[in-house]
Amino acid sequence: MADAGWARSRGNRGEKAGLRRGAWYRVVEDDGHSWLVIDIHHVEVRIPKDDLDVKSERPKVWSVVHEPHLVCPGCAQRRHVAGQPKEVKCAECGNSFTVDWADRA
Ligand SMILES: [Zn+2]
Repeated sequence: MADAGWARSRGNRGEKAGLRRGAWYRVVEDDGHSWLVIDIHHVEVRIPKDDLDVKSERPKVWSVVHEPHLVCPGCAQRRHVAGQPKEVKCAECGNSFTVDWADRA
């Protein structure tokens, strides 16, 4: 089955359901209800759409969480940076991603 998209907590609204703020999770199922089924570390959890930001493609930019804290789109590792660099390399997975400083998770 094709991925139905990617989702992250809208602000802190998904945290109570187990989503780490700023991290993207795979959408397992979107069958038109008011919730999505999200894969949280291989556990499928139903979460209201109102609590989620959703993208159809896997995001390739850092999420900004409580600036200057960033969350890697590849491995969900958190790190903080000085200033507002346009591109940051992740020490955990070794990939470089751009930062969209206007996109606050
Ligand atoms: Zn990473």
